[in-house]
Amino acid sequence: MNTQTKSAFSSLVAILLSCTMLTNAIANDAPAAAGDKPKAAAASGPSDDDLSKALLNKINKGSGDIVIRTGDLPAGNPPAQAKPEAKPKVAKAAPPAKPVEKEPIEVIQWSYMDGPGGPENWGNISKDNLACMKGKSQSPININVDRAVKAEMTPLEFLYRPSPLSIVDNGYTVMVNYGEGSNLIAEGRQYRLVQFHFHKPSEEAINGDRTDMVVHLVHQHHEGDILEVSVLMTTKPPASTRKYWWGREELKGNSLIQTLWNHVPLVKGKVETPGVMIDVNQLLPANRGYFTYMGSLSTPPCTENVLRYVMKTPIYVTEEQVKNFDRIYPMNARPLQPKGDRLVKESTGN
Ligand SMILES: [Zn+2]
Repeated sequence: MNTQTKSAFSSLVAILLSCTMLTNAIANDAPAAAGDKPKAAAASGPSDDDLSKALLNKINKGSGDIVIRTGDLPAGNPPAQAKPEAKPKVAKAAPPAKPVEKEPIEVIQWSYMDGPGGPENWGNISKDNLACMKGKSQSPININVDRAVKAEMTPLEFLYRPSPLSIVDNGYTVMVNYGEGSNLIAEGRQYRLVQFHFHKPSEEAINGDRTDMVVHLVHQHHEGDILEVSVLMTTKPPASTRKYWWGREELKGNSLIQTLWNHVPLVKGKVETPGVMIDVNQLLPANRGYFTYMGSLSTPPCTENVLRYVMKTPIYVTEEQVKNFDRIYPMNARPLQPKGDRLVKESTGN
């Protein structure tokens, strides 16, 4: 290779590498497993590993739609582990034939920090994210308890069961992909628990206050609708230890959180399956009262029509547990969004 060719080659490599890194990111609040093909998945049984590989494939293709379909599942091919020829997001703006000349540098990665990729600009970064800017029912919001409509509503039915742990640090949060067979019944409709992940501080505020952290349990109906349950996390010890079904253990902190932090992968984007069983029931407060409103994904593409539930009672975590998350993500909460004329309902009686 002469010097010119060499330098052209190395800049190509640099660009491809940066594309891979830029697109190595996913929306946290969208389902990230086989949410829309539950039957096929249950019958043929793709492993969590397959789902994770399919997810990584999607990520590397830069697809804004990260719901995994059967067609995404690996068919004997190796997973796209940062393959440079995988089409990154820039492919949408530039024809694949000559991606190099089309200044892929212009692709800006979204972030929680102010700046070109910050929350105020999510809608400008990509056409896929228009809802972030123009949407009228975005999340998160502040819930003013006095203004919430008190209603006798059907209790949420959590039909969760243990799952093998599959955990990834996706560059925006720590996310756990949950195995098949855990469902939530809300208003007579069944939604499958697909994944859960964390924000610090909590994204949603109650009477103006955010808590130390929140876990978002992301569910999907087989027709595609998304439902998220937010469980606030606080370091303030509970008034009564009996509120927690797992007994006095909360005084030692939440044992599931501890398990998750123990297994956070060293490498971002790498899905770890350490062979440990977890039970997401441990992230639920004993009191199942909730607020509910229509919102959106709180990460790009900020898709709307997401049915949001915010549990009224937080779960207890230790300061050390919060500090450990802080060491990975000190701030990964979207700013509060205008509530507009949306209704917030508060369940009474439970
Ligand atoms: Zn979230």
